[in-house]
Amino acid sequence: MSDVQYKVAKTVREAAGMMLAAKGKGYILAGGTDLLVQMKSGARTPGVIVDVKKISEMVSVVEKNGAFTIGAATPAAVLGEHKKLRKAWPGVIEACNLIGSTQIQGRASAGGNLCNASPAADSVPALVAAGCVVNIAGPKGKRSVPVEKFLAGPGKTTLKPGEIVVSLALPKRPKGSSDAYLRLIPRTEMDIAVVGVGISLTMKGGTVTDARVGLGAVAPTVLLVDKAAKALIGSKLDDAALDAAAAACSAACKPIDDKRGTIKYRTKIAGVLLKRTAMIARDRINGIEHRGHRPV
Ligand SMILES: Cc1cc2nc3c(=O)[nH]c(=O)nc-3n(C[C@H](O)[C@H](O)[C@H](O)COP(=O)(O)OP(=O)(O)OC[C@H]3O[C@@H](n4cnc5c(N)ncnc54)[C@H](O)[C@@H]3O)c2cc1C
Repeated sequence: MSDVQYKVAKTVREAAGMMLAAKGKGYILAGGTDLLVQMKSGARTPGVIVDVKKISEMVSVVEKNGAFTIGAATPAAVLGEHKKLRKAWPGVIEACNLIGSTQIQGRASAGGNLCNASPAADSVPALVAAGCVVNIAGPKGKRSVPVEKFLAGPGKTTLKPGEIVVSLALPKRPKGSSDAYLRLIPRTEMDIAVVGVGISLTMKGGTVTDARVGLGAVAPTVLLVDKAAKALIGSKLDDAALDAAAAACSAACKPIDDKRGTIKYRTKIAGVLLKRTAMIARDRINGIEHRGHRPV
């Protein structure tokens, strides 16, 4: 690690310029909870580290007309304390507040969780369900991409040379909407998801009018499961609709077989978590509080 240059960017443009100049050897430093661990293990050997935590738009949350723009490097702990964000997107917040421990959340960002591109990243299924849009800046200007199109594979994103993620945009919620995220881990805390499911629902008069489902840890990238959403839309979340949505989630799984869970187990659990998250989101729409894994 001795040859690494540490640079602090004051603006997004400066950060992108530093990354371009690093010619593929540059890494953005947000919370560092992935990057520093990877450097210590030798898995990453950056030439330049670009610290973005002094760029105010990258470490703040802005609400405008009910929509939120979350700075990519904003720590999960800050997100969890943002009352309006927590009220609008409790599922996104419970996913971010599952990352590691209280100490980790003081540093770890949703942008870092996304850019690290682990198929098991906790915030990502919730962001996919939320219809999050990733705002990117680079040498050729700015562009935006739906979060489910941002990832390319385990550890791989679609960022081009010199590009960085500036913020994550969450849309204004229609009335009667809420979301939820659940993961299964072999331990009670501090473990990697065997399966993670994020769901966002909008309901009117007890009927689902809109739905999005994000599925994590069961494929090379987090999946948007349209077929599960379609099974729920138009239903009153009756058993038949939930069974169909659960089956769609299980069918979408292309998991690995490892010590945390077999293919069969992960495939089954994907359906189980779909049903549970749908119930939690519905309860939240109806004003029934759910604490998820942790208080939100
Ligand atoms: C003890 C421990 C427990 C953990 N538990 C969990 C867990 O339960 N769930 C979970 O999902 N993760 C967990 N993690 C992994 C990690 O904490 C998360 O992935 C975290 O969200 C990473 O955010 P960060 O800000 O620390 O990212 P960093 O480490 O700063 O960055 C991660 C990667 O993304 C790149 N990057 C960061 N920001 C940007 C940007 N704006 N633009 C372009 N590239 C960028 C970096 O260059 C790096 O390659 C854990 C880690 C530890 C050490």
